[in-house]
Amino acid sequence: MGKSYCREAISIDIHTLSVQIPAVEWPYNAATPPLYQTSAYTYHSVDEVDRLLSGDGRGYTYSRGGNPTCDALAYVLAELERAEAAVIAASGMGAILAGILALSPTAAPVIVAREIYGGTPGLVRQVLQPLGYTLYWLNTHNEAEAKATLQAHPGVLVVESISNPLGRVSPLDTLIAMAHQMGSHVLVDNTFATPYHAQPLRFGADLVAHSVTKYIGGHSDLIAGALVGSKELTQRAAQILNVMGITPDPFAAWLALRGARTLALRMERASQNALSLSTALSGHFALDRVYYPGLSSHPDHEVAQRLLERGYGAIVGLRLHGGRRAVERFVQSLKLVPFLPSLGDVMTTVSQPVVASHRELTEAEQRAVEIDDSVVRVSVGIENVQDLIEDFQQALESANSR
Ligand code: PLP
Repeated sequence: MGKSYCREAISIDIHTLSVQIPAVEWPYNAATPPLYQTSAYTYHSVDEVDRLLSGDGRGYTYSRGGNPTCDALAYVLAELERAEAAVIAASGMGAILAGILALSPTAAPVIVAREIYGGTPGLVRQVLQPLGYTLYWLNTHNEAEAKATLQAHPGVLVVESISNPLGRVSPLDTLIAMAHQMGSHVLVDNTFATPYHAQPLRFGADLVAHSVTKYIGGHSDLIAGALVGSKELTQRAAQILNVMGITPDPFAAWLALRGARTLALRMERASQNALSLSTALSGHFALDRVYYPGLSSHPDHEVAQRLLERGYGAIVGLRLHGGRRAVERFVQSLKLVPFLPSLGDVMTTVSQPVVASHRELTEAEQRAVEIDDSVVRVSVGIENVQDLIEDFQQALESANSR
């Protein structure tokens, strides 16, 4: 059975916590967690294997059910989210699926915040709906509407701490309390905020999911996911991940462990850059609008100020004048910044939600959350921000001049 590491939450600053890997003794006093690139573990005793597979005692038998490198990553993420426990999945999608199934093993409504990564409603539609789960959309920014939907359809609420790609921030504290009151469990996808900006368990979330692929990894070189929360729920999720075979590769976990050590430093720099870039581009003649929750013009600026810590994340949304053709010219005119249908790298990248992250939504669903072919998502990295500002300005001018 999959194991999930856990430890009492401690209160040192996240900059210290992410660098000083907490007190774990690695074999031979290794300074960093070893990579256990093994699928299985050898024994000389039938009884010992039998005991371990019965969940009695600590040890590993087969890496689908548990691996020391993956468990080391779980331990670190539980520390960063100040959680009791965590478990690692093969991908962010694997984590979200296991999270929903752990919260509701039998068919139930899955209530999804309107502004969410398109893969999440895609998962509900393609995998869970045929099993009897039902998809409901939730406008988390209208209290009366949210209350009515949650009252009518108690089940599992899935919401992001900072939404993809327009930086919407739901009032997680009041929303989660309301969902619980109405009989729902709550899964918060904290991929965009990372534990640097938000720790949603503090607002009462039952489980927190991550696409570790993004900021925790930080270098576009791995695919992995994670769930953090109580020992009971993460162990339930670990069982699901094991039997479904959506457990991670140890090398991906090892890379993520390395990435996690600079998470705070990267997020600090990237979120400062995002604020500077969004401020510099606001009012640009080629842009209809700049979306960043750190700007006072953003509809959720006040909620973000109340709920997010140390800044507002590193995703900026741009709405260009001129639609898809202008976006194409803009992307081709960027000299430093590549198009990358992912995010969270140390380098700044751009993507277009309608062709990538949100392509699984219908046009009407995209329109309801202001996403169309004029919108570009910028994942701001840790470069010198002046270089970024100059590159974006020249590309916007080119996009508008032809
Ligand atoms: N959650 C968010 C917010 C995402 O942006 C993504 C992927 O882009 C996922 C989950 C899925 O993660 P993964 O690609 O690691 O499966």
